[in-house]
Amino acid sequence: MAFDLNKLLRPHIAQLKPYSSARDEYTGKEGVFLDANENPFGSITSGSYNRYPDPYQHALKEKISTIKQVPAEQIFIGNGSDEAIDLLMRAFCRPGKDNIIILPPTYGMYEVSADINDITINRVNLSEDFQLRPNAILEAVNENTKIIFICSPNNPSGNKAKRQDIFKIIEGFDGLVVVDEAYIDFSDEPSFTNELSNYPNLLVMQTFSKAWGLAALRLGMAFASVEIIKILNKIKPPYNISGLTQETVLEALDDTSKMQRMVNDILEERDYLLGALTKMEGVQRIHPTHANFLLVEVSAAKEAYDYLIGNRVIVRDRSKVILCDQCLRISVGTREENDRLIQALSHFL
Ligand code: PMP
Repeated sequence: MAFDLNKLLRPHIAQLKPYSSARDEYTGKEGVFLDANENPFGSITSGSYNRYPDPYQHALKEKISTIKQVPAEQIFIGNGSDEAIDLLMRAFCRPGKDNIIILPPTYGMYEVSADINDITINRVNLSEDFQLRPNAILEAVNENTKIIFICSPNNPSGNKAKRQDIFKIIEGFDGLVVVDEAYIDFSDEPSFTNELSNYPNLLVMQTFSKAWGLAALRLGMAFASVEIIKILNKIKPPYNISGLTQETVLEALDDTSKMQRMVNDILEERDYLLGALTKMEGVQRIHPTHANFLLVEVSAAKEAYDYLIGNRVIVRDRSKVILCDQCLRISVGTREENDRLIQALSHFL
């Protein structure tokens, strides 16, 4: 399929002049900076925050580039991957005209962002075992379909998509295919970032909110062609990543072994939780997972959810979601948290 980024892009964005500051022209560190109406005397807090942060997060991207083996100019950093999802829709989908394809049951923000931006949602459900249906997906494409969102490992089911199905969709669609890998660090799957040089219509998303344990900082990544990344940079709010976040994450990235240790701990706890739930009466099914959560079918999900809330154990009730009848989505916690969940749930069921 021929992919033409200029055809995909909303015409006015091609013409758009992005926000620019004097510091886009003067990139030196030394100087008298009287261009941005900052406070020259310092910050009200300890730490040095009186100057605006680097809008393009150069230092952070260099480090991410080394870790992920993706060139820095092919990396976009967003205020969570949620920001990247929203910017993609604003860049490529004309409100009231264009559509995206999502594959329910899947991550909720694709739909929320599309609704906010007045973009039509075309749904192609996963199969009963939560696999992609590439033929049905490609059949659902029409001339106004701009983006297909694939989530793997998938939220809320936890399973990963078959690689050959993802390839089939990327190869059979002349719009943008987003592969959301928010949970990839919990699986043994190679990232689709390895495929970026083969497919100009591929964008891969990852996040610091899960394995890295930095959800409160709000930091997500999108990896794609230089041209697509330029578009995202052009339309993002100028200072979308705070100075505090950039500094903190730069430091965190020095110790990737800590992240790996936490992932191993989560996988161990996942096995523990799985073992305990498997033995529990009233648990009908636990779906295979490659993420840090379990989708668990119980005899009465809403009642179980309410009972757990009453015991201050909070899980996600997914029983109204398509293909997730009577299912709870349970995040893997610490041993103490998992024991609290196990105790409360076994009491109820
Ligand atoms: N994608 C998926 C599949 C998710 O589950 C989530 C968060 N729950 C996100 C993206 C958003 O992550 P972030 O915190 O980076 O916005």
